[in-house]
Amino acid sequence: MQSNVIRIDDINYEIKSSNGKDVYSILSTELGWVCSCPDHMFRGVKCKHVYAVEFSLELRKSVAEIQKIEPINISGCKFCKSETVVKCGLRKNKNGQLQKFQCKDCNRCFTINLGFERMKHNPQGITTAIQLYFSGESLRNTARSLKLLGVEVSHQTIYNWIDKYTSLMEKYLEKITPKVSTAWRTDELYFKVKGNKKYLYALMDDETRFWIAQQVAETKYDADIRPMFQKSKEIAGKKPLALISDGAPNFHVAYNKEFYTRANPRTKHIRHIRLQGDHNNNKMERMNGEIRDREKTMRGLKKMDTPILKGFQIYHNYIREHEALKGQTPAEKCGIKVEGKNKWKTLIENASKKD
Ligand SMILES: [Zn+2]
Ligand SMILES: [Zn+2]
Repeated sequence: MQSNVIRIDDINYEIKSSNGKDVYSILSTELGWVCSCPDHMFRGVKCKHVYAVEFSLELRKSVAEIQKIEPINISGCKFCKSETVVKCGLRKNKNGQLQKFQCKDCNRCFTINLGFERMKHNPQGITTAIQLYFSGESLRNTARSLKLLGVEVSHQTIYNWIDKYTSLMEKYLEKITPKVSTAWRTDELYFKVKGNKKYLYALMDDETRFWIAQQVAETKYDADIRPMFQKSKEIAGKKPLALISDGAPNFHVAYNKEFYTRANPRTKHIRHIRLQGDHNNNKMERMNGEIRDREKTMRGLKKMDTPILKGFQIYHNYIREHEALKGQTPAEKCGIKVEGKNKWKTLIENASKKD
């Protein structure tokens, strides 16, 4: 299935033969696909070229399908399940406001606060804090900004919110498969936990920049990063056809164990030694920069496997619009769109929903 399908137009495709000497044409006719290879012409079998064209069409179709994650609307009365419910003003207290609803059947009033029940502060304050932190503010600066909105909390409380909601969102998002491309990149960057250097490894889709998996380790060249590679297969539901890395030995060990197979399609490992001013590794460099810029915000990190690092991944994939992706998020490029004015709120609501 790895064959490179060249699209001429909607009904004409070409594929190079596996020995590289011939080019076969695959044409859509009223009788189905016709291929110019010997298997098809003389033996009349449905050849691998036709399968390859069908497969590539299937792939494009599936990327065109967008999976939407939408804000949760109330579907009925909390008490009697009646569907005739109207909005009836806001419930205000010193920590913010919530939409109130009234049931036309049982007359009771209620608020819906999915994901934020029993929180002292309202969804706006909490999600604003999360956004400020992941877009580069320190915990202390975030607390100062929230004060302007009338939300008075300590930076420890903000850390707890991020911790709690990142874990919640992570569990939910792991069940959604991003439609990533077939070439992935891997790299590491360092940060500090209580003054000690640690490495954050990332595996990322080259085309969409979707950050597929991460792992934190103590060392740079010999950390066993197979767990990250295993995780990436689970998340993406497939292996890449090409893995691009700098030449660090542990990448190759993990590639051999987790991606390499004797059978086709084989994953190639492209060891790309980084040179100064090299444009080819730009994408990873940019992500490194993106996270290194946050080093000051990461000073608050307390533990090695802190969920806050997963929060960076969620922010990178689902929230932040990337200039290089023409204002889209990597998730949108992979067919997943988070709707609503407040994407954090949409994600938290969906993560809290019990089906
Ligand atoms: Zn053929
Ligand atoms: Zn009711």
